[in-house]
Amino acid sequence: KNIKKHFPIKGGILQRPQSFVKAVNGVDLTVSEGETLGIVGESGCGKSTLGRLVIGLEKLTEGTIFFNGESIGDLPDRKLKKYKRNLQMIFQDPYASLNPRQKIGDALEEVFIIHSEMDKTERQSKVKELLKEVGLKEEHYDRFPHEFSGGQRQRVGIARALALNPSLIVCDEAVSALDVSVQAQIMKLLKKLQEKYNLTYLFISHDLGVVRHMSDRVLVMYLGAQVEMGDSQQIYNNPLHPYTKALLSAIPRTNPKHKSERIKLQGDLPSASDYPKGCPFHTRCPIAQAHCAEVIPEWREVEENHFVACHEVQQKGRLE
Ligand code: SF4
Ligand code: MG
Repeated sequence: KNIKKHFPIKGGILQRPQSFVKAVNGVDLTVSEGETLGIVGESGCGKSTLGRLVIGLEKLTEGTIFFNGESIGDLPDRKLKKYKRNLQMIFQDPYASLNPRQKIGDALEEVFIIHSEMDKTERQSKVKELLKEVGLKEEHYDRFPHEFSGGQRQRVGIARALALNPSLIVCDEAVSALDVSVQAQIMKLLKKLQEKYNLTYLFISHDLGVVRHMSDRVLVMYLGAQVEMGDSQQIYNNPLHPYTKALLSAIPRTNPKHKSERIKLQGDLPSASDYPKGCPFHTRCPIAQAHCAEVIPEWREVEENHFVACHEVQQKGRLE
C-alpha cells in the first residue's frame, strides 16, 4: 500500500535541504498466490528496489507491505524471520554470491545449517534432492562454481532460493545474462517449479520479450512510479500509457500487421533526485498538456484489471 523508498543523498555541507533519490515513489498493488507479476521499465526505474523492499532487504520510507493480510512492519521478530524465509530472491549473477572455493553442495547445505535442525545426513540428502529438482545431478554436489556453465549456476541459484520452501520468489533479471537457448530452459524450469509448488513470482526484467513470456500480469514503472498495470495481453496488445507505448514500440514485431512506428522519446530520463512535479513522465511525454506538469495523475482502473496513471488516458478513455 503506497510504498515509497527514498534514499538520502550524502552531499557536501552546502547541500541543504537534504535531497533524496526517490527510487520507489508510491507503489500500490496486490499480487495473488501462484501468479507471476512482471515488472518492467528502464534501468533506474525502481524495479529492483521494489523487489528488495518486498523481501525485506530494504526498509520502507513510507507505506505498508502486507503478506497474507498481515502488515510485515508490525510483525514480531520470530514471525518476521518466518516471513523472510517465505520470500526469496534469484539474482542475475549467482556466481557473484558463490564462494569460488566452496563446493556447490556445501554452499547449499549451509542454508540448512543456518535455518534447520537437520543432521548432516539429512542435509546432504536434501541438497541432492534440490539439485535434481533444478535439473542438476548428484555429482554436481562436489563440484566448484567455476566448473558450472552460466545456466547451471543459475540452476544453483534457483536451488538455493527453493531450499526453504518459499511462497514468493523475486527474480531480478534472473535470465538476463544468459544465452537465448539457455534462457528458454531456465524459464521453463521456473514455470515447472511454479506449477509444482504454487510459487508466486515477481519477475523483474528490462527484457520485454522475456517478461511477456513469463507473466500473467505486467507492471510498468517509470522513475519509481507505477504508470500502467494489466494482464499481459492487455499491456502488450493494447498499451494505454504513452510511456508503455514508447517502451513497446522499441521491440521488434513478429506480426507484420502490427507494424507500429518506433516512438522516440524526447529528452533524457530525469534524475530520480530531481523528481519532476506533476506527472513524472511529463518532461518526455509526447502528449503532455499544461496541467501534467502540475497535477500528479491518479492510479485508476480504466478497464477491468487495467490500471493507468495518466490524465489524458483517463479523460479520453482509450487513446489511439
Ligand atoms: Fe503524458 Fe500527461 Fe499522461 Fe503524464 S499525465 S503520461 S504527461 S499525458
Ligand atoms: Mg535492476
